[in-house]
Amino acid sequence: MTYAILSDIHANLEALTAVLADARQHAETLICLGDIVGYNANPRECLQLVQQHCAVVIAGNHDLAAAGVRPYHDFNRYARQAIDWTRARLTPAEVLYLRQLPRIARFGRACLAAHGSPRDTDEYLLTRLQFVQSFAYLQQHAPEVRYCFVGHTHLPTIWRCTAAGEVEPETVTSPRLALDPACRYLINPGSVGQPRYGEPLSTYVLFDEEALQVEFRFVAYDIETAQDKIYAAGLPPYLAERLAIGQ
Ligand code: ZN
Repeated sequence: MTYAILSDIHANLEALTAVLADARQHAETLICLGDIVGYNANPRECLQLVQQHCAVVIAGNHDLAAAGVRPYHDFNRYARQAIDWTRARLTPAEVLYLRQLPRIARFGRACLAAHGSPRDTDEYLLTRLQFVQSFAYLQQHAPEVRYCFVGHTHLPTIWRCTAAGEVEPETVTSPRLALDPACRYLINPGSVGQPRYGEPLSTYVLFDEEALQVEFRFVAYDIETAQDKIYAAGLPPYLAERLAIGQ
């Protein structure tokens, strides 16, 4: 069974369409780590595609904000404007769908889907200490989980925890990586709809739980159309500009 793990779609229909086309060639089951809406101009279309194609879907912080579950005064002003814009467009049924999404979900033999970190939808995993704490949390609350997938930072990354408890970033020298069965992993596929790793290509991950192999996929999409829709919608122009530079 090969899984395609997608995160942070953020209402970018052009990116999602391109990623789905690629993912369906390589994976049987699609998993969405949340933040379906926010930032870009096609929240409703992206919600529909995610519901159609993803077997497992969890909530991101932008989904919860758009559904009125979470206050969003702490978001930056671009994100706030995008949530205001999104809330004015979602139907009651779409809001209900977002409201009932789980925060975390198990899949496969030993996999967990989370948005920010396994313990908190809003936590950014960036520093070593944050990864150490997340591995410790998993060991305590979900010891059967060996592969935890997170999004939220929009940065493709892999950290591992060895049998001896050493936590270190995995050096990814090629897009394909063989995992060590003795280690546990936290894997971030990056973002479909708003990449922030310095390149404009969408990223997602293919994961084969039998072969223990992870592959980062980099997918080109029609950025100009996505940008034009942001300008036409009256969303902050910065949200269009950042797509071109992957920031
Ligand atoms: Zn996000």
